[in-house]
Amino acid sequence: MTASDRPLISLIVPVKDEEEAIAAFVARVTGVLDGLRDVDGTPVGWEILFVDDGSSDATLAAIHAAHARDPRIVGISLSRNFGKEAALSAGLDNVRGRTVIPIDVDMQDPPEVIGAMLDQWRQGFEVVYGVRRNRSTDSLPKRLTADLYYRAHNYLSEDKIPEHAGDFRLLDRRVVEVIRAMPERNRFMKGLFAWGGFRQTAVEYDRAERTIGGTKFNYLKLWKLAIDGLTSASTAPLRIWSYIGFGIAAIALIYAFLLIARTILYGVDVAGYASMMVAVLFLGGVQLLSLGILGEYVGRILIEAKGRPIYVIRERIGDPGERD
Ligand code: UDP
Ligand code: MG
Repeated sequence: MTASDRPLISLIVPVKDEEEAIAAFVARVTGVLDGLRDVDGTPVGWEILFVDDGSSDATLAAIHAAHARDPRIVGISLSRNFGKEAALSAGLDNVRGRTVIPIDVDMQDPPEVIGAMLDQWRQGFEVVYGVRRNRSTDSLPKRLTADLYYRAHNYLSEDKIPEHAGDFRLLDRRVVEVIRAMPERNRFMKGLFAWGGFRQTAVEYDRAERTIGGTKFNYLKLWKLAIDGLTSASTAPLRIWSYIGFGIAAIALIYAFLLIARTILYGVDVAGYASMMVAVLFLGGVQLLSLGILGEYVGRILIEAKGRPIYVIRERIGDPGERD
């Protein structure tokens, strides 16, 4: 496919149980996209790809209806709920645009920012990520945990992820191909984007409140996402046990010499139940913790080794993706 066949912009919109949100999204976003002009003043070509991530409501019907009204709106429907990261991967495999923008359907990511992203892309940036100017629409615990996560991730990992940047970002086709070529099953998108590098810049925006439907992420899901992100970005949690083990062994050796010296000088006394218990429980705890962390990595190796597909497409709406 040559560059001139490609629409300038492809939006990827993962949707899970969003029947009420789709029509409003399409109305607002097509308005914005139709208003965009190319450098020569002509309207830009665009497509919107909905990825139905195993919705159990009328989301799929809403996508069909949108496609019937405007053929530039296409979709794929996954065979079950694979999660947002997998849905985004499916999206990247099935868009044609010279630039690709993942965006949430709930319009918390304002589509008006797309114009500014495009300007930066024309300046030569291959990744233009949206940064939330403030997170006041998120609850305080969510803000605090997000903050903690970004710090931990960037402390442990070589590939720094920009703080408070969501998945809403513009990607050049070259970046998309790099991400598509990554074979791993664990699709922690922010980590993959960070690893890819390229010339990156940010545009700021205010994240709006979700007005239609509710969030699909509870803390349990966010926790799992955080573990996925950390384990895929860094092996520091594995390495740290060598140092802790070394430290404890060194202390134990010194303590052993002290005990031997004391026994030689003063003979055996049977007291010491408390210190014994503390040592046994502490070491038991440390060992279980390190085993657990080891298990996290081994489990991920298992999943990668199985090599199953990241997602399964059950149905295509319109004719998404490249044909040749
Ligand atoms: N989403 C998805 N699969 C899931 C969960 C969410 O495709 O398993 C979609 C959802 O429909 C929405 C986007 O991901 O378009 C972001 O979800 P949400 O707004 O619930 O996340 P939040 O903004 O609360 O972080
Ligand atoms: Mg949202």
